[in-house]
Amino acid sequence: MAKLCPSAQPGMDGCRVLGVVQRDGPTPMLEYLSEPLPATEDILAMAAPLKPTEVFRLAATCAEHRCPHFDGTDCRLASRVVQILPAAVTALPPCIIRKECRWYSQEGAAACRRCPEITTVSYDLSSEAQRLSGLPVMRDDSLPGP
Ligand code: SF4
Repeated sequence: MAKLCPSAQPGMDGCRVLGVVQRDGPTPMLEYLSEPLPATEDILAMAAPLKPTEVFRLAATCAEHRCPHFDGTDCRLASRVVQILPAAVTALPPCIIRKECRWYSQEGAAACRRCPEITTVSYDLSSEAQRLSGLPVMRDDSLPGP
């Protein structure tokens, strides 16, 4: 069975809404949907004027070799999430894609304990966020000044 990517982009195969990003606390936290919801154009348009990925987390069929995070066997993004981020929750979130999730099948419960804090779009320029993205880490003094 094809695995699902839990941090997908609109337009990917089998795209559905995994949850809604809540931003009323100190860090964004995902509220998981309890029912499947296809990511149709009408649903995604509800995010306006924000981008769909700023409001929703989407899941879709893992693009494997078409994705820069896939190394031929594993999702390196899932590996970095588990290695770099502390757990955000102790109990596993009530997630309806667990049986098909690439991150869970690869990293187990450790991925689920960090998953609620993952946002597909991030404006965080911290070195931790850069390491998570897989981009080279910029020194702080190389960032644009105020
Ligand atoms: S909670 Fe676990 S199973 Fe669900 S999307 Fe996140 S990593 Fe995958």
